[in-house]
Amino acid sequence: MDQTKLEKSFLSLDRAFFVDDEMKQYACLDFPLPIGFGQTISQPSLVREMTRLLAPEEDSKVLEIGTGSGFQTALLAMLAAEVYTVERIERLMEKAKQRLKALTLTNICYKVGDGSKGWPEHAPYDRIMVTAAASVLPDELVDQLAVGGRMVIPVGPPDLQELKLVTKKNNGEVHVETVDIVKFVELKGKYGWTEAQP
Ligand code: SAM
Repeated sequence: MDQTKLEKSFLSLDRAFFVDDEMKQYACLDFPLPIGFGQTISQPSLVREMTRLLAPEEDSKVLEIGTGSGFQTALLAMLAAEVYTVERIERLMEKAKQRLKALTLTNICYKVGDGSKGWPEHAPYDRIMVTAAASVLPDELVDQLAVGGRMVIPVGPPDLQELKLVTKKNNGEVHVETVDIVKFVELKGKYGWTEAQP
């Protein structure tokens, strides 16, 4: 991927635009911030690092699970051809959509629902970015990854997870590598943690 374009796109995004008024004063700090409904926006350095690992190309079709504030979605939409983003909390999705439309990013398709099962209607995807912690690597997401594709996903218990880079080789073989230790909010749904879990 074009590292200069990643850096330029990343620096062009103002994180304050993606958080509520009371959080704007903290937006320049490299910390996760609350975005409501018990969810968070990740620290900017992690968004940049995960995007670098995902390595979207100009012609990539990207699936993103966990739209949240829309910050990561915006970065992906600036780097790739199309972004399909799924969020389970309708109100968060509405707010993210408003922001992304205000930025005139028109290559994004939105869905409210359980993204742990992906979005099969538009598969396969060249890149899959998951920004909530899965309990296991979801089979459906691996199936929806194109040959030659890459997926970045945190896998592990709610307190700390391994950040996995999943690649699908040209012969269809799937390779999984641990690239970092991270802390994300829980993925809910089929391949996440149950709705009842604290
Ligand atoms: N990338 C986002 C950003 O830039 O603001 C932050 C994402 S936040 C850490 C994780 C998001 O995943 C939350 O908004 C949460 O509601 C969502 N989420 C959790 N489980 C989900 C699921 N099964 N399907 C879709 N979204 C889910």
